[in-house]
Amino acid sequence: MGETDESCLFCKIVAGDIPAEIVAESEHTIAFRDINPQAPTHVLVIPRRHEPDIASLADAAPLEAAELLSMTRKIATDDGHDDYRLVFNNGAGAQQTVFHCHGHVVAGRDLTWPPG
Ligand code: AMP
Ligand code: ZN
Repeated sequence: MGETDESCLFCKIVAGDIPAEIVAESEHTIAFRDINPQAPTHVLVIPRRHEPDIASLADAAPLEAAELLSMTRKIATDDGHDDYRLVFNNGAGAQQTVFHCHGHVVAGRDLTWPPG
């Protein structure tokens, strides 16, 4: 996968061509609020680099995957939540709909297990 994909929605958010409510940024990672939140806190944390899913990111750029993971706690605590769920839907069969790697940071309500 290349560094960016011009047809990719999240690459457009990284480039600033589509607006998003950005809550955190670092060298290789940005985080912004989900447009259709499923909890009081629902933030997407994504690599700036275009990779289709978390498995591909881990293979192509493991340090960038680690940086992404390290951002998740601050996203939750900045919204006042010590505990949170981190979800990566990996592949269409797992309900992934946007094929630019993203983790969902979800917090602020009772979370049941197993997920649906
Ligand atoms: P997934 O089903 O795991 O691929 O999740 C994709 C997520 O992207 C969904 O939760 C959508 O609500 C979210 N989403 C789609 N378009 C946007 C957008 N323009 N800004 C923020 N979140 C978005
Ligand atoms: Zn992309």
